[in-house]
Amino acid sequence: MPDPQRLHSAIGRVYLVGAGPGDPGLLTLRGAECLARADLVLFDGLVNPLLLRHSHALAEQTCRVDGPAGRVLRQDEINRRLIEAARSGKTVVRLKGGDPFIFGRGSEEAAALSDAGIPFEVVPGITAATGAAVYTGISLTHRDHASAVAFVTGHEDPTKSISLDYLALAKFPGTLVFYMGLHRLGAIAQSLIEAGKPMSTPVCVVSRATTPRQRTVTGTLAEIASLAIAAELHAPSLVIVGDCVRLREQARWFEDRPLFGQVIGIPRPEEQADETALRAVELGAQPVLLPTIEIVPPESWGEVDAILPRLNEFDWIVFTSVNGVHGLLDRLWESGRDMRSVARARFATIGPSTAAALEKYSLRADLVPSEFRAEALARELCPQVAGKNVLWARASRGRDVLPTELTAAGANLTQLVVYQNCDVDQLPVSSLQQIERGELNWIGLSSPSIARSLARLLTDEAKVWLGNKTKLACISPVTTAAAKEAGLPIAAEAKEYTWEGLFQAMIAANRETI
Ligand code: SAH
Repeated sequence: MPDPQRLHSAIGRVYLVGAGPGDPGLLTLRGAECLARADLVLFDGLVNPLLLRHSHALAEQTCRVDGPAGRVLRQDEINRRLIEAARSGKTVVRLKGGDPFIFGRGSEEAAALSDAGIPFEVVPGITAATGAAVYTGISLTHRDHASAVAFVTGHEDPTKSISLDYLALAKFPGTLVFYMGLHRLGAIAQSLIEAGKPMSTPVCVVSRATTPRQRTVTGTLAEIASLAIAAELHAPSLVIVGDCVRLREQARWFEDRPLFGQVIGIPRPEEQADETALRAVELGAQPVLLPTIEIVPPESWGEVDAILPRLNEFDWIVFTSVNGVHGLLDRLWESGRDMRSVARARFATIGPSTAAALEKYSLRADLVPSEFRAEALARELCPQVAGKNVLWARASRGRDVLPTELTAAGANLTQLVVYQNCDVDQLPVSSLQQIERGELNWIGLSSPSIARSLARLLTDEAKVWLGNKTKLACISPVTTAAAKEAGLPIAAEAKEYTWEGLFQAMIAANRETI
């Protein structure tokens, strides 16, 4: 989408956008709009990369918080990049963790843009303090405990003229929230106690707030530093000091999600992983994408294009995957035709996701079998197809249950390859490393071919964790059989043959092992 605000000018605009504290759902609508129209996104190390799905632009990370591998861009270099890109006519989004103007140097970037005469807009974000407080069940201004809240830096710039007055902070009639204070927690607590804050004041340290890796440690001001060290908390962490911390247990919700903190491998091709990854986040888990196949168009569209003008000859069109729906119907649209070409046909789908994909084209499935597998689809479709013209929009490879059964039932079957599923040569390096470090709790296997591919793509270092630290769940008995044949140990099997069923199987298996 072009940026409507810049149509009359050769210079682009810069949007300084708050990305929120980590949960990809905590981005503002305005932030999502800006991302959708960006030509370039520069995001900082605190930003959840899942937010980039709102954008089709080139995205570059400007620094990294964890690990020495990343390149760190200096602030003046970032300012220069923003100005140069805008001058070349680009719409630029500068995506910053939390709120851009709270301990975020966003105001310095805005000042640099203003000096350079670049038009800009600032989009606020949910800052870490409110994100962390709400996701741990703490009300920073609970009326029985605090009449004010202060955001305090725990990492003072020694060159600054104003420095923290701990006597004033100790007397402050409300909640103190320290940003960037984890590594100085001992000194902060000590300074507050020396300034008269009671040693028994409750404190909560929240690490990686609003993400599946959120961890909280609570204790008194006197003991919190040693508790935090013992718990080996990681950055980014926030320190909340005040009586409101006491009421946390009554209002906690996030950490009680059914898959909270679980790291789950999702071996789906990039284009399809979105919904599943977001559902994993909703259940409290951290998704790790492990695409084993790549979905690409057929080698040639020749056969498909030859069928498109004859689509109204078919009594049934069968879809056994979301890709099949997109492959056929997008090509139909691109060829200059529209849904009237399939007006005569009835539609059979293998399951609810495929039916939902049809709905996006305002088409209803006439048949969704009660069990979401090829055998069930064949069983329910066969009685209706004798002497009928049936089209199956299929992948370049797959099981042959459907053609065998439908042909035996007297259907006049046309098989049309509308997409190819190609094996990838390797898993994304960062995901593979996570498996090799034993960081995954679960991997979901959603088809026999995915099970076989994964067995091929996992290194020996990764395989040592399978069955103990990293468990495997299969979507159906057919997949379980294929996985076992490929030598993979299986810990759970879905009752309903969908990704939701897989998640539920993981939840049930986790309960059993507690
Ligand atoms: N502009 C950001 C803050 C940047 S300063 C905002 O508004 O949130 C970086 C500090 O923010 C970190 O040192 C940490 O104290 C805090 N922080 C950011 N994200 C956090 C998170 N997910 N959990 C806990 N603290 C976080």
